[in-house]
Amino acid sequence: MYIKIKTQILVLGAGPGGYSAAFRCADLGMDTTIVERYPDLGGVCLNVGCIPSKTLLHIAKLIETQKKFNKYGLLSGETHIDLNKTRSWKDKIIDQLSNSLSAMAKKRNVKVIDGVGKFIDSHTIQVENNEMTLEIAFNYAIVAAGSHTVSLPCIPNDQRIWNSTDALSLQSIPERLLIIGSGAIGLEMATIYRAFGSEIDIVEMCNRIMPILDEDITNIFTKIITKNINLILNTKVNIVEAKKDGIYVTMENKQTLLKNTQRYDALLVAIGRAPNGNMLNIERAGVNVNEYGFIPVDKQMRTNVQHIFAIGDIIGYPMLAHKSIHEGHVAAEVISGKKRCFDPIIIPSIIYTDPEIAWVGYTEKSAQEKNIDYEVALFPWMASGRAITEDCKEGITKLIFNKKTNRIIGGSILGANASEILGEIALAIEMGCDVEDITLTIHAHPTLYESIALAASIHNGSIT
Ligand code: FAD
Repeated sequence: MYIKIKTQILVLGAGPGGYSAAFRCADLGMDTTIVERYPDLGGVCLNVGCIPSKTLLHIAKLIETQKKFNKYGLLSGETHIDLNKTRSWKDKIIDQLSNSLSAMAKKRNVKVIDGVGKFIDSHTIQVENNEMTLEIAFNYAIVAAGSHTVSLPCIPNDQRIWNSTDALSLQSIPERLLIIGSGAIGLEMATIYRAFGSEIDIVEMCNRIMPILDEDITNIFTKIITKNINLILNTKVNIVEAKKDGIYVTMENKQTLLKNTQRYDALLVAIGRAPNGNMLNIERAGVNVNEYGFIPVDKQMRTNVQHIFAIGDIIGYPMLAHKSIHEGHVAAEVISGKKRCFDPIIIPSIIYTDPEIAWVGYTEKSAQEKNIDYEVALFPWMASGRAITEDCKEGITKLIFNKKTNRIIGGSILGANASEILGEIALAIEMGCDVEDITLTIHAHPTLYESIALAASIHNGSIT
């Protein structure tokens, strides 16, 4: 069957960028169609990314908390995981959110078309699914087709060799798991599988984890996680062999050049993601795609073709859901005629490990690189009443101020709920707050977020 339809706005991809753009377009009165190759809305984030990983991290946290019960005088038996039930719980959460996205699309009269979309020319896209081929003519397109996992040439195909999607499908708990890459995804998966009972090695090419962050933060974090996880730094993976009795991995230390082969029950490759820019025949629409597969855009999310916009992972780093959502809103509003552009001062980043790491704006390292005259204010959580009552006193709150203006320009938090606490720092930076704005704001006591005010007070000289 070959069908031709028309739409004012065509959104390609129903991840957080795509559905946010489509919903905003519809709310602004435009006739909108989303094309998505998978039956469920939500993209990587909802189906195989943010949501399943945070669901499993929540369960991991419960397991770790239960290990401390004895210390608190609580008597309880050992926890056993019923993997089928845990998987169903995770899938139920994904279904719930995906259904609610479908309901929101329906309520707004956004048409959702199931199938793989490819451009035919600058005003037409072809969509194929099992039942039919559709040709959709559009006035404007918003390309939100996201990214995919990448692997290494030395890695063979084997059921015991996973990417993040395989790891989140929770098929088994390997006795020994090697994770290649100590980025956010590698560290979060390590937290999950460690709590579920795996023995974890993480191998990392760099000489420390998260080199983007200041060393005082990563040093404490490394000390905490290496109590339970074996971190192999400065090392690259050379050979991976899938044998009957396990996955054999040969690694080489970059400094000593010493090689070492280890056997694992499973291997997770978490070395990053690449954009889907080369999979859409978008060159037929005249849209430029760069050598890495990213689609370059201007601040209004416009590609080099005036009526075609692109947002989310497909346009560049950081590959984060909240960035995609924000860009989706900008694209929709620009198309509707509003004078909008994507110009945030900061984009928050979070690693949802135990403890969490969250940062926003400048670190000391990036301030030095930009020759900014800065000052640091630190508050260690061992002096926080709430951190002590919550048994999470290994945290730290770090603020960066511009020395001349006293304005806050960055913050990093290591500790429980850092992801939530960071919100205040992000707002303070966007609003141009200085140190007094923070110290003069009454922070509830005892809370973890009061560590921000306490750090600022030390900096301001109000605490001696
Ligand atoms: P995507 O979510 O990738 O959506 C793109 C959609 O386009 C997909 O549904 C895809 O099927 C569809 N598509 C692609 N090509 C076509 C085509 N030709 N035709 C039809 N449809 C097509 N980010 C965070 O901010 N916080 C987190 O905690 C977080 N955790 C993560 C954990 C993991 C394990 C992973 C893998 C990622 C995580 N991310 C997180 C990143 C986040 O998921 C992405 O940044 C986000 O999903 C990008 O949104 P997007 O809309 O740009 O693209």
